[in-house]
Amino acid sequence: MGWRPGDVVVHQEVWRDRIWAARPLVVVEDSPDRMLFWLPAGTRRKVPMTPPHRDDPGNRTARIIELLERGDWIHVDHVGDLSCLWILRPGEWHATWVSFRPSGEQFAFYVNLQRPFRRTALGIESMDLMLDVVATPDRIWSWKDDDEFERILQRGIFDADLGRRVRSEALDVIGRLERNEPPFGEGWHRWRPDPAWPVPVLPSGWADLPR
Ligand SMILES: [Mg+2]
Repeated sequence: MGWRPGDVVVHQEVWRDRIWAARPLVVVEDSPDRMLFWLPAGTRRKVPMTPPHRDDPGNRTARIIELLERGDWIHVDHVGDLSCLWILRPGEWHATWVSFRPSGEQFAFYVNLQRPFRRTALGIESMDLMLDVVATPDRIWSWKDDDEFERILQRGIFDADLGRRVRSEALDVIGRLERNEPPFGEGWHRWRPDPAWPVPVLPSGWADLPR
């Protein structure tokens, strides 16, 4: 059931049996040990938002924590302005995103801590685990959303075991980054998408729980 380069699939994030977020991705490579996807600037995705019947906390961290806790989010559209190549390996608790500016120059490495992906009929499923590591193209790294992640642990939304799993994965990836091990140092900044690929559109069915 492999996908071919140029196919459009959906990445669904699921939290407590509801779709948390969904985005379309262009398949770049589907092989047993690695999956690559392309998410060009201008791609419209669905992100969780505070429902209209209550006040929005006004900042992203508080909003995310309330939504994870209450489970009452609605979906709104969001359009990104950076293009990203996603690199995923089966069983890993993160994805590496190589992001590009509109000029084509590499902007950053973004290590997104997330549950290991699972294949679905429409694409892949995982869940963002809030902690991220961002690095410049020359591999100077920093934590992102560290405070958000700690507050989610303090509130018991993620349990301590999950917290340790995510931290240890992040430290492992930081080690690889510092040693310039794959996928860092593999020349991904020179990679370019097939110009024939369109900006992907969410396929129907994105809002249904994956089976
Ligand atoms: Mg993240």
